[in-house]
Amino acid sequence: MAATLPILNPATGGVVLRLAADGPREVAQRYAAARAAQPRWAAMPIRKRIAAIEKFRAQVVARADTLAQTLTQEVGKPIRQSRNELEGLLARLDFFIAESARALREQKVFTDASKRLDERITHEPLGVVANISAWNYPYFVGSNVFVPALVAGNAVLYKPSEYATLTGRHIADLLHASGVPDDVFVPVIGGGSTGAALLRQPVDGVFFTGSYATGAKIAAAAGKRMIKVQLELGGKDPVYVCDDVDTKAAAQALADGAFYNTGQSCCSVERIYVHEAIHDAFVAAFVAEVNGYRIGDPTDDATYIGPLTRRAQLDVLRRQVADARRKGAALLTGGSAIKRKGNWFAPTVLTDVDHSMLVMREESFGPIIGIQAVADDAAAVELMNDTAYGLTAGVYTNDATRARRVLARVHAGSVYWNCCDRVSPRLPWSGVKHSGIGLTLSTMGIQTFTRPKAWHLRSA
Ligand code: NAD
Repeated sequence: MAATLPILNPATGGVVLRLAADGPREVAQRYAAARAAQPRWAAMPIRKRIAAIEKFRAQVVARADTLAQTLTQEVGKPIRQSRNELEGLLARLDFFIAESARALREQKVFTDASKRLDERITHEPLGVVANISAWNYPYFVGSNVFVPALVAGNAVLYKPSEYATLTGRHIADLLHASGVPDDVFVPVIGGGSTGAALLRQPVDGVFFTGSYATGAKIAAAAGKRMIKVQLELGGKDPVYVCDDVDTKAAAQALADGAFYNTGQSCCSVERIYVHEAIHDAFVAAFVAEVNGYRIGDPTDDATYIGPLTRRAQLDVLRRQVADARRKGAALLTGGSAIKRKGNWFAPTVLTDVDHSMLVMREESFGPIIGIQAVADDAAAVELMNDTAYGLTAGVYTNDATRARRVLARVHAGSVYWNCCDRVSPRLPWSGVKHSGIGLTLSTMGIQTFTRPKAWHLRSA
């Protein structure tokens, strides 16, 4: 009998729906259908595949309200932030629609008429790829993969997170209604065991977004198969606030960077280092900002902080707070779960923290931040790099030279000057160390769903 997948509302703990999860047999059937369909899809002219994405975009616009409501219901994302995610999705789609044909065009790289020689590169689709996804920004992390993968001529077996399954089904319905065949974009529904069953199929590539712990399992499963593996994993993203900034403006921006999406962004600000000269003023402004956040019903337009999507994360946050306090941290606000139905944790600010504490080392993925004073830029850089992760890092200063000097020395896939928690479709999104391998977005993030074929052509 098929396992059941309950869809929960994190704001209430209530069951929204129960679905049948795909077991190994269904996964094998879906794989076989995708394998059979992929050559036909790849043989179509690219402009037809791009036209399907244009129709998908129009469908997203037409259904935006329903899509936002579903996202808020199953993930607990405050409704305004759900709408923002859908708007951001449109910007990404626009980028892929505008840039894909150029990025995937055949390139003539060398010609020597005297030797009658031509050298060319074509971008061949990988074939059937698995897209195993996270729940925190399902439209972003999903579309970064399945849109360019489809445009490049691949069939996609798409496993949404078990916490964003209804959104995954919406995505599939809209793509199918836009002309992507059912067996070219194939949803695979279920949790970790369904994902593991998917990886037992002979797919040609695995594109994963999720935690380091799961990413390591995926890499191990794919290791012997010589297939392309891309892993977009977690972070412990630091920001350094220099002594020359507008303290209040920096505090407001960084509180948003830390607490937006209830702190559940891969590139949330997770550690703040503040120059000791402005530390106290910065902390006061930061706490005032956080205490002003509206916590509550995520369907309410005024809400800024919603529930945590995964109940288990409450324990991670409790453990981090207890550990920090035991080791001497000061708790300035929050610090515990909120007593109401669902998965609620009060926005939490800790100071007097150091790197012996879990809150400065482990990904928190929730509404909690540690703020540490530093004496100078060198100390800040050393602490920023003292991590297993390397997704993003930022610096706030009025001095461009100082910003470049700091950012050149931090080890991260993306670096920010006077901004944070930001992703651009035009720039590659990648991490170093435990934050992953490979990249999405930018023109490189289109080509990544292909293998280059080298053509050496000598006419007779
Ligand atoms: P997760 O690792 O728990 O799950 C991710 C996906 O893997 C889900 O679809 C899950 O069902 C599946 N899965 C679980 N076990 C599996 C297995 N053994 N084999 C195959 N699939 C398996 O992560 P999550 O809670 O969904 O997402 C949160 C994490 O994702 C955070 O660490 C966050 O930082 C990270 N993330 C990173 C990025 C990025 O761009 N770097 C973006 C979003 C989220």
